[in-house]
Amino acid sequence: MSLSESDTKVLAVGSGKGGVGKSTVSVNLAFALHGLGYRVGILDADVYGFSVPRLMGLVGEQPRAVDEHTILPLERDGVKMISTGSFVDDDVPIIWRGPLLVKVLDQFLGDVRWGSLDFLLLDLPPGTGDIPLSVMQRIPHSFLLLVTTPQASASHVAGRVARMAVEAGVRTLGVLENMSYFQCEHGERYYIFGQGETERLARELEVPVLGKIPLRIDVREKSDQGDPPVLTVPEVAREFEEIAIAVLDGIRLLEASKEEPGPEAPEPGH
Ligand code: ADP
Repeated sequence: MSLSESDTKVLAVGSGKGGVGKSTVSVNLAFALHGLGYRVGILDADVYGFSVPRLMGLVGEQPRAVDEHTILPLERDGVKMISTGSFVDDDVPIIWRGPLLVKVLDQFLGDVRWGSLDFLLLDLPPGTGDIPLSVMQRIPHSFLLLVTTPQASASHVAGRVARMAVEAGVRTLGVLENMSYFQCEHGERYYIFGQGETERLARELEVPVLGKIPLRIDVREKSDQGDPPVLTVPEVAREFEEIAIAVLDGIRLLEASKEEPGPEAPEPGH
């Protein structure tokens, strides 16, 4: 059975532009959901700008092919992952065009032996291009999670992704604000990228703000080292656990508001 027909909840993590922390959120949220007892996989659909292998400390590891149509995903601390980054040399530019990219994506959805998953997180490429559109069209029952910084330039383009989702029949779960503020050692908060834009976007889209993640040096450092901060920094673990709970609540609400009663948000599977 393909993923699009299974009970796996698909969370598509998107953003209007790059660099807002979409991949950082995908990876750390995946571990937070796993920490709550769910079976989780990440499909790095950011085929040109993949960074999930690095963020999960899996650079240089290659997924094993069992046969022509079965690939085993890589795994880190219980979270499964597949990325084009695991199949190509890091320094070689990927020049595949649309149809081939969509084929790769289909293979990742169809040929990867994910096993039973409660959640599959899709790290989408930024913006409203071919790939995010293809993903949404292929898995219309997925939920979109929008990541933005508090800057108008980021939230404005994030709004476009949500509007594309509507066209594809994908429901937006909510907005996550990353790099909300920096808190210095004296406890003072500096709103480096401003304030209020995320709330404005959420109002416009009629979705909740699911959480706010501060700018933190250890998040950047640990991520660069391939060590997901959610696994080792207690404050980050707490923040992402709260976000994971908000995501679960959001799914329950959306499922409950559907005309036909849908499946419940899954119970932890291990
Ligand atoms: P995107 O996937 O949107 O392109 P990334 O997740 O790759 O963005 O993040 C871009 C950069 O910002 C990375 O170097 C990452 O470590 C850093 N970063 C992301 N979120 C935070 C944060 N909350 N605090 C500090 N650095 C962050």
